Amino acid sequence: MLEQLAITPIKVDLPFRLNHVNCFMAEGENGWTIIDAGLNNAYTAKLWEEQIEGKEITDLFITHYHPDHFGYAGSLQQKTGAQVSMSKIDADAGFNAWTDEFIGTLLGNYELSGIPDAIGRQMMENTDTFKSLIMPTPRVDHFFVEGEKVPIGRYEYEVILTPGHSEGMVCFYNDETKVLLSADHILPRITPNISYWYHGDDNPLKSYLTSLKDMKKLDAQYVIPSHGKPFYGANKRIDEIIAHHDERLAETKKAIQEESTVYEVFKRLFEWELTIHETRFAVGETLAHLEYLRHAGECRREKKGNEWIYLPK
Ligand SMILES: [Zn+2]
Repeated sequence: MLEQLAITPIKVDLPFRLNHVNCFMAEGENGWTIIDAGLNNAYTAKLWEEQIEGKEITDLFITHYHPDHFGYAGSLQQKTGAQVSMSKIDADAGFNAWTDEFIGTLLGNYELSGIPDAIGRQMMENTDTFKSLIMPTPRVDHFFVEGEKVPIGRYEYEVILTPGHSEGMVCFYNDETKVLLSADHILPRITPNISYWYHGDDNPLKSYLTSLKDMKKLDAQYVIPSHGKPFYGANKRIDEIIAHHDERLAETKKAIQEESTVYEVFKRLFEWELTIHETRFAVGETLAHLEYLRHAGECRREKKGNEWIYLPK
């Protein structure tokens, strides 16, 4: 199928438990388009050097601002002169989320979440290590807008904004073939991480579930995700992901029978061993579920000393 679409996947390894990201290359009329870039490191640099050799790269589409997609975009732009396109929301997030100013606000937020100081410091330091993995940031030449048509390989695709995993993430959809490049919106084996990262959309899980339900209307038949292998039938997977969050929301509600900090809820929801990097994601995910419940009127939040506590309605 990918061959018929004239889309070549480029699997880029990542040094995490999520051990790869799928980037893509597709030849257009005037040159090649690359979708997503990987982390900025020596391995990625070498991989792209081999891929782009002898090719004219005109465009670089970035689905969202997370480091595994956006990190090498600036370097790849410098090497190719490609025009970089992404949503305005995620361009801003990418420029801001790893500044010293923003990273400096994390400790205070971790304290509000009841995270022990030593762990909070490690989480902040872990965030700080990502600076070099996303620098230099690209010059964004074009901001994607919902409904815009872009050529990718043999077909034109509609840009679809899918807030949730990140507030300004885009997917690409071709109605004729019913093919969806799903970025991190729909993944085959894992559920996309939905986190509140102490900036932007304050109810990302609500946004995510809304954009998932909207996407069902497309009834996409062939899904090309950014992690894992392409698969058939978007709607079946969407239903599974929605069911997963319903279950997690029920567990989260149970975890706040008595008043609890975000960290206490996190400990109850994630009972297995996590690295500091994974703890950041798990805390973000816990917070996204708690805030969903709070916005839905299913729990309350109060300030107690320097901490937010969540409690039953
Ligand atoms: Zn990703």
